[in-house]
Amino acid sequence: MSLTVGVLALQGGFQEHVTLLRKAADRLSSANAISAFSAIEVRTPEQLGRCDALVIPGGESTTISLIATQTGMMEPLREFVKTSRKPIWGTCAGMILLADEANATKKGGQELIGGLAVRVRRNHFGRQIESFVSDIELPFLSPLSTTYPGVFIRAPIVEEVLAGEGTEGPGERVEVMAVLPGRLRRGGGAAEEQVDAGHAGDVVAVRQGNIFGTSFHPELTSDERIHVWWLGEVILALGR
Ligand code: GLN
Repeated sequence: MSLTVGVLALQGGFQEHVTLLRKAADRLSSANAISAFSAIEVRTPEQLGRCDALVIPGGESTTISLIATQTGMMEPLREFVKTSRKPIWGTCAGMILLADEANATKKGGQELIGGLAVRVRRNHFGRQIESFVSDIELPFLSPLSTTYPGVFIRAPIVEEVLAGEGTEGPGERVEVMAVLPGRLRRGGGAAEEQVDAGHAGDVVAVRQGNIFGTSFHPELTSDERIHVWWLGEVILALGR
């Protein structure tokens, strides 16, 4: 099969995603799943139109949203997600943009693409200097190793699932794909980090139908396991 995956390249870590997508596709093509693969940077509706699937990188969601609005990309993106229902994966800022609602937005709010029936809380763990790397369990990576280095930089969490149970029919429920256990919201500085082992944990990855979102940044690691998994899911969804 041939497969074209776009990475929204308005701002943020798009180049890193392109690199990891190519690495992941190499793995899959050696198993003969993909014959021709392209990972392309997407800045225009025309480029988006060539994509079978799309990644929205981490960066600054207010900036990405502003540029998308100014360049006429917002509506084509909404159509891609909600009408064509093509596979889409947002990391960090990308997940914020895909959420139906976001908390802690700048004054006046920000335009979201939406589609993912969750409310996210931006900057949940605090400021840039409170960034951290934490091993997280990603059961969906099985049978590969399921422990993954989660890079959290001013990361959002999924604060609430908005979809009513079962109202969207099978396959469209919001699935929790990963939880960061035992950690509460940080106070002031990193020294004040509160860790409560009894806390159920923060939801840091979800999927709803064609939409996948992660709070953390796989593109800032050299570990292509999630990209391999997601491309596999894309191939399944496209039925090729
Ligand atoms: N806090 C950023 C935002 O709101 C996201 C940070 C990131 O993508 N690393 O867009």
